[in-house]
Amino acid sequence: QLAQAYDRHYNATPMNYVINLPTQNSLPVRGTEARFPVRRVYCVGRNYEAHAREMGTDPTREPPFIFQKPTDAVISGATSIPYPPQTRNLHYEIELVVAIGRRGVNVPESEALSLVYGYGVGIDLTRRDLQQAAKDGGKPWEWGKAFDKSAPCSALVPADVIGHPASGRIWLSVNDVIKQDADISQLIWSVPEVIAFISASMVLEPGDLVFTGTPAGVGPLLPADRIQGGVDGVGTIEVCIGDSEHG
Ligand code: MN
Repeated sequence: QLAQAYDRHYNATPMNYVINLPTQNSLPVRGTEARFPVRRVYCVGRNYEAHAREMGTDPTREPPFIFQKPTDAVISGATSIPYPPQTRNLHYEIELVVAIGRRGVNVPESEALSLVYGYGVGIDLTRRDLQQAAKDGGKPWEWGKAFDKSAPCSALVPADVIGHPASGRIWLSVNDVIKQDADISQLIWSVPEVIAFISASMVLEPGDLVFTGTPAGVGPLLPADRIQGGVDGVGTIEVCIGDSEHG
């Protein structure tokens, strides 16, 4: 009887959903078949001085600012990304990506790296014309940044394997022409500082990703472009831009 009661309590009423459960998005991890489940995607804006300048803003060390992309905007693997709708100015932004593996609230900078599971290389794809129109109108960036497949990311590599890179070349090429070439030591806000900042405002949870910002040299992409990028010591990424899915 006890067994029956136990069974009723724990097994008789499995969670029911009125539609199929959405799939859990995830990234591959180098060296294992196990994957990293993606929860939230935080992105840091204007985190390299030369990029802030090219965007027409003052690169002084004002507090970082953060926006998000949807979890399912993250895609992995050598893949083709359809040219997104409603833009005539799709831009690449190569970025160091931090993968959070432990929960953190109000984390001091000195402990921030203990939250990090690993690192990857991502591209913060941006509909620059929509972003600029939003800026001009005092409206949110959302439509310029948070579109489908806007966050391609490499396989992650665990910090247990590579440590916590504080320097290293970050680069991106389009059709074999180098467009972005900098060093992650030039981040205005370092990885520990960004983690401390976010965790003072939100609860960081395992599965969260942080795109840490892009260096100078951003520019437009067209269908059939081949983009390669990397961060020395972390990894590389390669994607192609395909035709629009929206016609
Ligand atoms: Mn960015």
